[in-house]
Amino acid sequence: MKIIHRITKMIVALMVLLLVACGGENTSGNTSVTGATKPTKKYNWKMTTTWPPNFPVLGEAANKYSEWVEELSNGQIKIKVYGGGELVPALEAFDAVSNGTIEMGSGASYYWAGKTPAAQFFCAVPFGMNSQQLTSWIEVGGGYELWKKTYAQFNLVPYLGGNTGVQMGGWFNREINSVEDFKGLKMRLPGIAGKVLEKAGGAAVLVAGGEIYTSLERGVIDATEWIGPYHDYKMGFHKIAKYYYTPGWHEPGSQMEFFVNKKVHDELPPHLQAVLEAASKRVQVWMLAEFDRQNGIFLDKLVNEEGVQVREFSKETLDVLRTYTDEAIQELIGNDPLSKEVYESYSSFQKRVSKWSEVTEKAYYNKIQKNN
Ligand code: CA
Repeated sequence: MKIIHRITKMIVALMVLLLVACGGENTSGNTSVTGATKPTKKYNWKMTTTWPPNFPVLGEAANKYSEWVEELSNGQIKIKVYGGGELVPALEAFDAVSNGTIEMGSGASYYWAGKTPAAQFFCAVPFGMNSQQLTSWIEVGGGYELWKKTYAQFNLVPYLGGNTGVQMGGWFNREINSVEDFKGLKMRLPGIAGKVLEKAGGAAVLVAGGEIYTSLERGVIDATEWIGPYHDYKMGFHKIAKYYYTPGWHEPGSQMEFFVNKKVHDELPPHLQAVLEAASKRVQVWMLAEFDRQNGIFLDKLVNEEGVQVREFSKETLDVLRTYTDEAIQELIGNDPLSKEVYESYSSFQKRVSKWSEVTEKAYYNKIQKNN
């Protein structure tokens, strides 16, 4: 018995030694039994964006994403950010990443409606969800799975890339007192909203960002929307249009995105995929915070320094536009089964969350905050 007891003690001691040895190797991480350091694989990527280089907030967010990915991955992933047109034209970002020419991109999914109409539901739907509600649908309401399914058709993996919050309704040179005032109006208004304007008797004109000011000044268009006070002030629209309308019924909280080539993405070890996700969540928080901060400052400038008149669309005007929006969406989903699937998830989530927002956020804004 004594011998057996001794042998047991020796085995236990040996096991402890082995465990300590293993533990020692684990904490040193990259050191192998021979004492050589294992190479850590490095990834050098390019990101092409749909914005001009360093574009306020949107371009800055791409730069911050790159910085945060490098920091979180301890330098394993380095992403060099390029503005639209530097590597490929802005609106070719989707194709360039899809075919693997460039590892990743940043943009807004409604730009890709021509490739797959379902894409626009992950960005902005007129009379749709605001940033808070949309984030909830994507994050925990089944939206992200549908987004991945939509983008997998193109060999892409999407990630949240920040949200603008509710945008402004646009700049007009005449008052919009009823939906009749949209008749004959030529306005820069993209996406589904453009179809809504056409149903109201107006004409949606596609104008690139850099040409909006001149088009409005020369009367090529009568009205335009852009983003919100911060960006609109920099564009100088207040110098050539009198009325600044709210709310942006057409873009109640435009969701931005990052997208990664799926093959490149799937080859990453899980901890680096987790880094891409963590940095995207950080951008999601940062962008809305920055938009709220800057828009607050620049709304004040527009109203108090530039004398801009902020007007609200009437409830009657918005009710008619909402009816036209419903028609436009029904036409869209009637022609595309994937859009139908995505919209059913989107709209059922919106119905439920709106009832909650009605008794909390809306009640708070209406009854408390506006009286402060
Ligand atoms: Ca806009």
